[in-house]
Amino acid sequence: MCKHDVCYQIKQQGGYGGIAVMCCNKYKFKNGNTENVVLLGLEKYGTNANKWTLCAGKMDRKDNGCFLKNAAHELFEETKVKTMKMSTNGKKMEVDWKVLDKYLKWDDGNFKWYIHHSSDQKYHTPIFIAKFTGKSSRKLNIIVNEHNNNKNLDNCYKEIAALKWFRLSDGLPIDGTKNTTLSSFAVRMINNMKLLNVSFLN
Ligand SMILES: [Zn+2]
Repeated sequence: MCKHDVCYQIKQQGGYGGIAVMCCNKYKFKNGNTENVVLLGLEKYGTNANKWTLCAGKMDRKDNGCFLKNAAHELFEETKVKTMKMSTNGKKMEVDWKVLDKYLKWDDGNFKWYIHHSSDQKYHTPIFIAKFTGKSSRKLNIIVNEHNNNKNLDNCYKEIAALKWFRLSDGLPIDGTKNTTLSSFAVRMINNMKLLNVSFLN
C-alpha cells in the first residue's frame, strides 16, 4: 500500500482496478484563437481497435494498489511523456515522481480527478485531469513511431498507432481530419469535461 492521500481518497470513493487520464492542453492557433483540447491515442488492438481513446489502463501488480503508479506507467507507455525512469541500479523502470507531478498536479498543488462509474456498475475508474501545456503531438508521434518500430521493446509500448489533439468543445480533431471515430468512453469523458468546467492556464 502506498501513502498517497489521493490514492486513499480514490479508494474511499470506490475507485479500483485501473485509471484513465484526460491529457489536456490549451491549443493556440496561428490566428491567436485558443481551444481546450485533449490528447487521444489511436488504439491498435482490443475492443477499441481503430478508435481514438483516452490514455487508460488496468492496474499492474507492480503498481501495488497505487493509482499514481498506475497513471505513471500508462502515461509513459501511451503518451510517451517521461513519467518513468530507469532505477539507479539499472534493473527496473520506476516512477519519476517529479515529472508525474508536473503533469498531474495543478497550480494549487492538488490533483484533479473524479470517479467514473460505468452504467453497468462494473467499472469505477478514477479519471485524472493532466495538464499537457505546450506539448506537441508532432514530437510525441516521432516517439510513437520509434517505439512501434523497435523490435526489442515490450508490446505494452506499442498499443497506440498515433496521437492527436481533439477539441473538448465538440470532440473533433483540431487538424481537421475527417472520419475519426472516438471510443464511446472518450466521448463520455469529453462530455463530462464540459460539466466539470475545468479552466485551463496559459
Ligand atoms: Zn499511491
